[in-house]
Amino acid sequence: MKEFQETLYDSISQCFRIDRMYFEHKTEHQHLMIFHNAFLGRVMTLDGIVQTTERDEFIYHEMMAHVPILAHGRVRDVLIIGGGDGAMLREVCKHRDIERIVMVEIDAEVIEMARQYLPNHSAGAFDDPRLELVISDGMDFVRGAEAERFDVIISDSTDPIGPGEVLFSDDFYGQCRRILKPGGAMATQNGVPFFQIDEVRQTRERMGRHFADQCFYSAAVPTYYGGIMTFGWGSDNPELRRVDRETLAARLAASDIETRYYTPDIHLASFALPKYLLDALEEPAADAAQ
Ligand code: SAM
Repeated sequence: MKEFQETLYDSISQCFRIDRMYFEHKTEHQHLMIFHNAFLGRVMTLDGIVQTTERDEFIYHEMMAHVPILAHGRVRDVLIIGGGDGAMLREVCKHRDIERIVMVEIDAEVIEMARQYLPNHSAGAFDDPRLELVISDGMDFVRGAEAERFDVIISDSTDPIGPGEVLFSDDFYGQCRRILKPGGAMATQNGVPFFQIDEVRQTRERMGRHFADQCFYSAAVPTYYGGIMTFGWGSDNPELRRVDRETLAARLAASDIETRYYTPDIHLASFALPKYLLDALEEPAADAAQ
């Protein structure tokens, strides 16, 4: 029986049994695999790194979409960078008051194969009339955006390896800050700090240069193994993180969205970070410059 062995870390790795291979191909940008595992359902990997599984994707996508959108409360324009599997788009589309969703994905083949082999991820969201789908490097898009402005920006990127690396750069955060409306919020995929602690320090320094309120929130996603994963948070309005439980509960109720992980209590608690992470954030990043 074939197995997928993840290649994210040097000295440790997780592996999944491949019960059925749906697709394996080197796209223009990355090595894409979609296979079935008896427990996880359909799994997508890029460049040997787990991107998403049907079994646990709801945790990650609910937390990256609903935390900034419900904290803001009056979101009309959303930018998604990456997110080629379509599940982030699916969660954003559930908010009926959103008027425009721009999704910028570098690899058209990821979208094409996800639509075909991971249909439950996008669940029709790619056909939402509010979507403007752009196939481009997210860095080029944000750098070139002139009049575009967004209430929420979600960077649903791969890890800072290969095409995803630029989405963790000082320039990227600066450009995203520029095109974020006043009172807007940015959320980013920021890795598993127990194994990728310098990624958090780097984001703290690079994103922190551009946002008055920069911090992290977290959730444990089983197949991003190693404990909690962090989400970068950036806003010019610290009040967004002080929205109270009752307000979040009222906004969630008004949205009619049924969640499986997100609750107002989880939302508020997710910004509480463990001591080892708080201590690490006090130290300089190894190479904060870029
Ligand atoms: N949930 C996953 C995680 O936490 O690692 C990310 C999922 S999603 C598949 C990541 C997407 O980022 C991929 O579709 C990939 O093609 C896209 N991507 C990587 N670099 C990019 C870039 N520079 N611009 C736009 N999209 C990019």
